[in-house]
Amino acid sequence: MAISKVLISGASIAGPALAHWLARAGTSVTVVERAPELRAGGHNVDVRGAGREVLRRMGLEQRVLAHTTGEEGTRFLDERGRVLGEFPASTSQTGGPTAEVEVLRGRLSRLLVDSCDGLPGRVEWRFGDQVAEVDDTGDDTGGGVDVTFASGARERFDVVVVAEGLRSRTRRRVFGEGHVRELGAYCAYLTVPREPGDDRYWTWQVLGRGRSAHLRPDDEGTTRGLLTFLSDVPGLDELEPRATAHVLQRLYAGTGPVGERLTAALDTQPYYVEALGQAVLPRWSRGRVVLAGDAAHCASPISGMSTTLALVGAHVLAGELTRPGASPAAALDAYERVLRPLVDAAQKLPPGTPRIGNPRRTAEIRVLGALVGLASSRAVRRLKLGEKLIAPPADAVDLPVYAHLA
Ligand SMILES: Cc1cc2nc3c(=O)[nH]c(=O)nc-3n(C[C@H](O)[C@H](O)[C@H](O)COP(=O)(O)OP(=O)(O)OC[C@H]3O[C@@H](n4cnc5c(N)ncnc54)[C@H](O)[C@@H]3O)c2cc1C
Repeated sequence: MAISKVLISGASIAGPALAHWLARAGTSVTVVERAPELRAGGHNVDVRGAGREVLRRMGLEQRVLAHTTGEEGTRFLDERGRVLGEFPASTSQTGGPTAEVEVLRGRLSRLLVDSCDGLPGRVEWRFGDQVAEVDDTGDDTGGGVDVTFASGARERFDVVVVAEGLRSRTRRRVFGEGHVRELGAYCAYLTVPREPGDDRYWTWQVLGRGRSAHLRPDDEGTTRGLLTFLSDVPGLDELEPRATAHVLQRLYAGTGPVGERLTAALDTQPYYVEALGQAVLPRWSRGRVVLAGDAAHCASPISGMSTTLALVGAHVLAGELTRPGASPAAALDAYERVLRPLVDAAQKLPPGTPRIGNPRRTAEIRVLGALVGLASSRAVRRLKLGEKLIAPPADAVDLPVYAHLA
């Protein structure tokens, strides 16, 4: 049974990338996004290895390269602002804390959406709506998935793809609760005015008691700020914004210029707090409902791999669903078979993370300092140890060539 009409829920990275590939094959695609418009927020995301190959196959590599953030490397500071070590940006397509392709998430999302124009299949974008109910009556011979939207509209699709990110509601509705492995850390993302001292490096300052503060350059004349801290307390990402700002300002009080600059900005700048976690599911599909991107296999920002996984997964899922003669069940089996090894490798985080990058005690800061100092020393740098130590497995996939999508 040919798949001709697909619903994708979520328009960030996985959703638009999948819409692109399905539309190339002539499939009619509807993308529903809960937000009222394409979300522009977010910091740098990395595209590595096989993810870069997918951009190349989409014809987007050069456009993305024209919009990288220009980050020149990563510099670690201790709590007094002393440099522990520096890593220049990677020159390989996989390794190093600063990847060769660092692009703002919102920019990449926009490029992916725009890339759907003019393809053989029609892509309809519906903002400000979401899936309310799903009734899957499809099998390999026919039927489909009846979807009721929050707006009240009802429609039947051949396949529904859930690309709603780590904390997806539709995944919860169809696959049940309990598929997130919490990592015991939070990130708060914000954008601040650029100051004269801000350079083209990612500044990563460890502040003790499990706290770090980060400054990263962007290509929009501002500086991206990030606060990361260890905490097992659940729900800090669900507080109302004033309360979150208050907690963070108390937490970072007295930590010095970087932490205090960022927490002061919480009073005036929009920000976004997330609890770090990984999505872990034994299978990414149930009937004709299938998960993609972070909703399926978020590896966490620590992995540097979630965007690469989303791009590769979208390509594989579309390639299999539109393969001439393939049944939905066979396509979804193949999606698992091709992508699992890459996801399994990406979800294995370096030992000690997230704790090692957010040390609690002075002794732990010293250990991090010794490691970073050694790995970034000139002698060891020649061995490219930094790139080898921080080398996400971005090529751990046997990426099929989908001639029907070429
Ligand atoms: C605003 C934002 C900022 C981010 N910033 C960073 C960052 O700075 N660094 C980083 O490493 N990663 C960031 N990420 C996560 C990063 O984009 C992903 O890890 C990765 O690229 C995989 O993307 P995804 O499309 O699978 O999921 P996500 O990027 O999480 O996108 C999920 C999309 O689904 C939408 N959605 C959620 N629920 C529903 C629903 N019920 N119905 C319809 N739509 C829904 C969301 O609004 C979002 O657009 C950010 C994500 C978002 C949404």
